[in-house]
Amino acid sequence: MTDKLAWIDKALQELREKNLYTTIRTIESPQGAWLQVDGRRVLNFCSNNYLGLANDPRLVQAAKEACDRQGVGPAAVRTIAGTLQLHVELEKRLAEFKEAEAAILFQSGFSANLGTIPALVGKDDAIFSDELNHASIIDGCRLSRAKTIRYAHNDAASLRAELAENRSSYKRALIVTDGVFSMDGDIAPLPDLTDLADAFDCLMMVDDAHGEGVLGHGGRGIVHHFGLQGRVDVEMGTMSKAFGVVGGYVAGKSTIVEWLHQRGRPFLFSSAMTVPDTAACLASVSILEESTELVDRLWQNTRDFKDQMQSLGFDIGRSATPITPIMLKEETLTQEFSQRLFQEGLFATAIAYPTVPIGKARIRVMISASHSGQDLNRALDIFARVGRELEVIN
Ligand SMILES: *Cc1c(COP(=O)(O)O)cnc(C)c1O
Repeated sequence: MTDKLAWIDKALQELREKNLYTTIRTIESPQGAWLQVDGRRVLNFCSNNYLGLANDPRLVQAAKEACDRQGVGPAAVRTIAGTLQLHVELEKRLAEFKEAEAAILFQSGFSANLGTIPALVGKDDAIFSDELNHASIIDGCRLSRAKTIRYAHNDAASLRAELAENRSSYKRALIVTDGVFSMDGDIAPLPDLTDLADAFDCLMMVDDAHGEGVLGHGGRGIVHHFGLQGRVDVEMGTMSKAFGVVGGYVAGKSTIVEWLHQRGRPFLFSSAMTVPDTAACLASVSILEESTELVDRLWQNTRDFKDQMQSLGFDIGRSATPITPIMLKEETLTQEFSQRLFQEGLFATAIAYPTVPIGKARIRVMISASHSGQDLNRALDIFARVGRELEVIN
């Protein structure tokens, strides 16, 4: 009998040999600037916990109180008997926070993209998609069966050329982009893309996963950052990054939200966020609405860290946000760099193929408002030491 799994063993072995095998570490402590990981206490420079909310006592308290009142599970999909008052309240608060007409929750950002794109375009239609868009956008495009036309990264001229050549061959069209690109930290030229969406009669959709809680006044996101309220049809977001919990949503025109209630498949066929998740998210939105303090601290930390890394001689790419890629390019060096950082007490993961192209490996450093000045200095010392040892800097 042949071994039906032999091909998987072989593929796994190949990944190990090429240093493309992802090692998954286990977190044994609450989230924060310091973590207990695989038995070691290390400085955390790789989570998406931009504002330190993942372990904020106000979120914990809100989750506990909601559980005491209402239990845990939503017990059914939203359209049958699983729409809780908390869901409706969070949708209303998110729409207000984003200055959008309406909002709809999904279980995650990933399922928000999977659910939304196929509801808006189908097989007679086209999607114009940035070549570096997130995997969940790519999968949403595939599920839609629309023709996906990629344009050069953050390049409005390339998008214009693709629109001029292809738009008229399709019925409806959607332009979709990450707002902040998660591996490089650069920001999409959303005003130009939105103008093109208007000029070529396309829906405009932005994935704000790394923009909310980061960009715009008090972290209202990329649409607010560029003052485009009311002009971007679909703003997709996640509650798993700056908001510190888990969950996804779409904010935008009320017609689109109403349509997603009828046709968003993960909304219709998968149960919704739990009671404690939803209550904790409501607390996050309140914290962001009350004060810009955390967002301001995040940006101060970002400026301080980046300035120093550049002075040390590291290539930190083209980031314009707290995402700070330390470009090392070569996969083996990058894995080794990450391992050496960990041995020195700093947790920052190596990012390599297939998350980024071959030859563009990097350590992705994520700055957080939860880092103290002391934490940042300590991290800089460790980066300098490992960087010199591995001859990345002089
Ligand atoms: C993380 C991320 C998602 C997925 O969000 P989840 O809520 O974790 O599923 C989607 N898009 C982008 C750009 C992301 O970075």
